[in-house]
Amino acid sequence: KKIIVIGSGILGASTAYHLSKSDAEVLLIDRKDRGQATDAAAGIVCPWLSQRRNKAWYQLAKGGARYYPELIKMLEEDGETDTGYKRVGTLSLHADSEKLEKMAERALKRREEAPEIGEITILSPEETKKRFPPLSDEFGSVFVSGGARVNGRAMRDALLKGAKKSGVKILCGNADLLLEGSKVSGVSVSGQTILADQIIITAGAWSNEILKPLGINFKVTPQKAQIIHLELPKMDTADWPVVMPPTNQYILTFDDRVVVGATHEDEAGFDNRVTAGGIHDILTKALAVAPGLSEGSILETRVGFRPFTPGFLPVIGPLPNFPNILIANGLGASGLTSGPYLGAELAKLALGKSTELDISHYDVSGAIE
Ligand code: FAD
Repeated sequence: KKIIVIGSGILGASTAYHLSKSDAEVLLIDRKDRGQATDAAAGIVCPWLSQRRNKAWYQLAKGGARYYPELIKMLEEDGETDTGYKRVGTLSLHADSEKLEKMAERALKRREEAPEIGEITILSPEETKKRFPPLSDEFGSVFVSGGARVNGRAMRDALLKGAKKSGVKILCGNADLLLEGSKVSGVSVSGQTILADQIIITAGAWSNEILKPLGINFKVTPQKAQIIHLELPKMDTADWPVVMPPTNQYILTFDDRVVVGATHEDEAGFDNRVTAGGIHDILTKALAVAPGLSEGSILETRVGFRPFTPGFLPVIGPLPNFPNILIANGLGASGLTSGPYLGAELAKLALGKSTELDISHYDVSGAIE
């Protein structure tokens, strides 16, 4: 069976990696758009404290966080150890101690079905600052030991290298679907025709464009995000926990950098510029929470487009009227968490195996017109 995967962000890379463990012949095509969400992503894996009530979303994000250690082990067995994944824990901040107690209660309740949350501890402002020195003095926190960070770029590349080792072919270029009668028979890449039995579309925020020739209006919208990378002189940031302030911003660290962000720009389309307003917004919020970051030097600002489908709910499954096309999309702001897991599920669908998720909750027809 020949399978083509279009798009190699975290979702397509994971799909190809999991397919590489089967006997299918797999070709992965990516055109390296500027603003690939995976390439810009922050890297927080901690879905359990979210106040979002949508059960299908939570099921997916929770499954994603739980799947990471298993996948990291698989990659290690393939010799891929550079993923930037580490369970450093998460500090969820609040200045109000009652709010912290409520947060801890919610986490404890969620732990009944998600033991991977780990320890849940309420920390005083002093204890909180000890774990993340740049913070201001006013915030206590709930520390969740199972929270993790991952380097999206490194994780994607580890999956791609692992897939390649098991025979997946990778092609750089723009893929257009080849329509023969009412069936898609393959793709065309730079004038070259490539036929396949099955096509999997994991093209993120750009997926509407690729489906247009089929007469389908795929309702994915790009949400622009700018995110800043800082270097803190003389600080060993390798093991600091992820910080989730009471705003919609976050701060996390890697061995050599601190990442702060991000903006949520719904009206910017595919404008991939770094803007004065974007930087102002991020730094104003970040420095209010962590004044100690003001000494950091700016390494770079990345821009990415979060793919959102209607209701902010991801979709996965066959494309209506085109049974040999599978699609997954809409990973939004939590795709580094859910992407590797959803890619594994997508590979199962392609191979005719049963999935862990009930995919009827993520019906693709909800995203098309
Ligand atoms: P993408 O990564 O965008 O990949 C799509 C790929 O398809 C692109 O490479 C594109 O070039 C390619 N493509 C499109 N059309 C074609 C075509 N016709 N032919 C060939 N190739 C094509 N999630 C978390 O869980 N935690 C976080 O902390 C987090 N932080 C984030 C911070 C930022 C700033 C951003 C932008 C996102 C963040 N996310 C986070 C969300 C996460 O990054 C995304 O949900 C996820 O990366 C989406 O992955 P994807 O594979 O669907 O799409």
